Amino acid sequence: MSIRFTQSCPTCGRRVQIRASLMGYTVACQHCNAEFVAECTDVCQGSVEPQATETVDPLMVRVEEALQRAAKQKAVVN
Ligand SMILES: [Zn+2]
Repeated sequence: MSIRFTQSCPTCGRRVQIRASLMGYTVACQHCNAEFVAECTDVCQGSVEPQATETVDPLMVRVEEALQRAAKQKAVVN
């Protein structure tokens, strides 16, 4: 089981899931591919949870999945 925390991407402002083991390392945003250093922010103090409990619009989740899929396909094409 991997512990994850979320951090807002400094470039696109969207939430990025980061493995706790990558804290302090440079990671790439899942949405815009911008690189930034994973840091302990407001969400990592005792609130690391296996699942996000914040209210998420299911439609938005689907959009995010589609975007990620599109990004992967684009990466393959290029
Ligand atoms: Zn980003």
